[in-house]
Amino acid sequence: MPRVTGIRVVRSPIHGYGVVALRDFADGEAIAEVDGVTWREGENVDDRYSLRIEDGVYFDMVDQTRFINHSCAPNTWVEVGVTDEGQAWATVIALRPIAAGEELSYDYAFPANLAEPCRCGAANCRGLIIDEDHLVPVAGGSASR
Ligand SMILES: [Zn+2]
Repeated sequence: MPRVTGIRVVRSPIHGYGVVALRDFADGEAIAEVDGVTWREGENVDDRYSLRIEDGVYFDMVDQTRFINHSCAPNTWVEVGVTDEGQAWATVIALRPIAAGEELSYDYAFPANLAEPCRCGAANCRGLIIDEDHLVPVAGGSASR
């Protein structure tokens, strides 16, 4: 796998391994073009490190970017798409200026059925790794029991 420059995998205070910036990144700067493998619904997808690109299309991250942790107060986001040839692509982009040494994170925004407990430590932590739009139905569901 090609090595992405400017970032490095380290042990993370958030969870397991994480990824830190090795240099400063400007707001809106592309940090990494993700190298990955395109999967489609119905294939035997390894979803542990896969991005959901669109309905039925997944992108298994195979470079250092697969170790970027989730945060409810992320400093990056991942722009995704599918080429005319049917290949998924993803780019990690800075959401704000990032200083060398900062851990990178993005909002995994899992659908409610895949939500996991979150320990990101952000002041606004949702308590679950979940799409913000799915949080209200889940909270409402548990409160009505
Ligand atoms: Zn959180």
